[in-house]
Amino acid sequence: EEMALRDSLTGLFNARYLQMRLQEELAAAKRHRIPVSLVLFDIDHFKRVNDTYGHPAGDEVIRVTAQILRESVRATDLTGRYGGEEFGVVLIDTPSQGAEILAERLRGKIEALTVHFDGQEIRFTISLGIAQVSDRTENHTHWIECADQALYQAKNGGRNRSEVYAG
Ligand code: GH3
Ligand code: MG
Ligand code: MG
Repeated sequence: EEMALRDSLTGLFNARYLQMRLQEELAAAKRHRIPVSLVLFDIDHFKRVNDTYGHPAGDEVIRVTAQILRESVRATDLTGRYGGEEFGVVLIDTPSQGAEILAERLRGKIEALTVHFDGQEIRFTISLGIAQVSDRTENHTHWIECADQALYQAKNGGRNRSEVYAG
């Protein structure tokens, strides 16, 4: 049962479970009027990592990113692998300003990191989008779209940065 919730490469929650929890946490946030934020992030130019160092090296980059993510959040936060090289963090009881602090901390850690694989030294960066639940958040899909829009802005703005959804 535990396995059905987890992504096999990283051990993080999988996209399906993360979406289910987003639905629940959104409802709880609205009911209890507590701030809850979603951080979505994506590895920059990951295709280049695979092309330059090979797919197994790309897998190692994803695993190391997941490990850093795990070490960087609180026990109450939910961390998942949302897609190929995309990750999500749900921060309970945290407004977007707090989520931005985590986002920038993560960004800095990744930027400073060198992954060693097969005698190769791999450097990479991530871009992050942040969205806090508001009265206008219609459902969990809309919430994800807001974070994704902020992530798109971070990519468009030059990558290796975080942006807060300004809805
Ligand atoms: P951007 O900065 O815009 O995000 O550029 P990108 O190259 O990261 O963009 P894109 O999303 O197009 O590329 C993601 C790549 O990730 C493509 C896919 O082959 C690779 N990928 C997806 N899942 C895995 C995986 O599990 N392991 C490895 N090694 N690569 C993966
Ligand atoms: Mg991507
Ligand atoms: Mg990418």
